[in-house]
Amino acid sequence: MDFDYTPEQVQLRDAVATLGRRYGHEYFVGKAKSGGHTDELWADAGKLGYLGVNVPTEYGGGGGGITELAIVCEELAAAGCPLLLLVVSPAIAATIIARHGTPDQRTRFLPGIADGSEKIVFAITEPEAGSNFHRLGTVAQRDGDDWVISGRKCFISGVDEAGNVLVVARTADAGTGKLAPALFVVPTNAAGLTRSKLDMEIVSPENQWLLYLDEVRVPGEALIGGDTAAGLPALFAGLNPERITVSAMACGTARYALGRASSYVASRDVWGRPIGSHQGVGHPLAHAQIQLELARLMVAKAASLYDAGRDIEAGVSANMAKYAAAEASALAIDTAIQVHGGNGMTTEYGVATLLGASRAGRIAPVSREMILNFVAQHVLGQAKSY
Ligand SMILES: Cc1cc2nc3c(=O)[nH]c(=O)nc-3n(C[C@H](O)[C@H](O)[C@H](O)COP(=O)(O)OP(=O)(O)OC[C@H]3O[C@@H](n4cnc5c(N)ncnc54)[C@H](O)[C@@H]3O)c2cc1C
Repeated sequence: MDFDYTPEQVQLRDAVATLGRRYGHEYFVGKAKSGGHTDELWADAGKLGYLGVNVPTEYGGGGGGITELAIVCEELAAAGCPLLLLVVSPAIAATIIARHGTPDQRTRFLPGIADGSEKIVFAITEPEAGSNFHRLGTVAQRDGDDWVISGRKCFISGVDEAGNVLVVARTADAGTGKLAPALFVVPTNAAGLTRSKLDMEIVSPENQWLLYLDEVRVPGEALIGGDTAAGLPALFAGLNPERITVSAMACGTARYALGRASSYVASRDVWGRPIGSHQGVGHPLAHAQIQLELARLMVAKAASLYDAGRDIEAGVSANMAKYAAAEASALAIDTAIQVHGGNGMTTEYGVATLLGASRAGRIAPVSREMILNFVAQHVLGQAKSY
């Protein structure tokens, strides 16, 4: 058992951390509050090859795995820039297209994802279906060589920043009530596709959208894998990378918060010595640090299993990592705010700004209850409870 990252992975970590520090949390919050996007950071990360670390080299990527992409996610978040679209475009979309796209889809989309010039966002969640994606109501119907898609999606991140959205739809001829999902690359400016912004209590430059698809027509080439049979495996291919990278991002956010909190309590002097010397302050931080390190271990294990092609075991670890990282991040932010006292709630000290995002980590992309259902059923052998 080897707990060390390779020298190349350590180098990548250091290099991404350096880029992250060049921007920092003030940049991230500034963009969020002014309604802007982190375009400069995204472009630099693309130029330096960080957005494409997991994309095969023949498509302009680094040829690494989800371990490398998780490093990128964690380090940018640890610098105060948790970029959700890393989880959506390079982790979900690039994996799905690299693994299940047609040769033409790979050539068309992967180089742009890798250099950052193309963002592809991901739309599965629907208002009626919720966590139960077997109830997806978005329907794709064949019409000659085209597909015509109708339905509604909600909470779709980054649609305003993306050229395309990967839409999960049910193929109409499934007819059996069984899920027969298919994935389509739909241009965000397609006729019949409209959106409205959701007002979220999250300080982030990345926005969530309601999407309305009203008979959106796309050509046959838009169907991932060129065959509806590719739908289910393609959909599942995206889940583990999504969970692992979102967990890495949560760990990075927790590191950022605990770093800020540790510096603060080491220098804040209220009773003649730094408040960090009081166990009532030091112990909660130490507890949060331990939870964080445990979560990081599980993220590393999940990424390593995934990169070794052990998808089933990776699925269990990715779910556990997601649970642990979301809890560790929520605890770290809450503790960091508490030890800052009143300053914890100010914008200046840069921790309360992460409250909404860290809380959302317990809900999205898969809620902690659904993870507990999964573990109870698949690890502990309990009957399905729903
Ligand atoms: C910031 C943010 C970004 C997002 N980005 C995207 C995106 O880019 N693309 C996308 O497709 N979606 C996105 N989502 C949606 C997200 O994946 C869903 O919100 C999430 O899967 C939960 O679904 P829901 O909101 O419909 O909750 P519901 O399914 O309505 O669940 C509500 C509550 O009930 C619990 N619950 C439901 N069923 C069960 C059960 N069987 N047993 C126990 N508890 C249960 C849930 O755990 C939850 O606590 C985003 C959400 C957020 C908050």
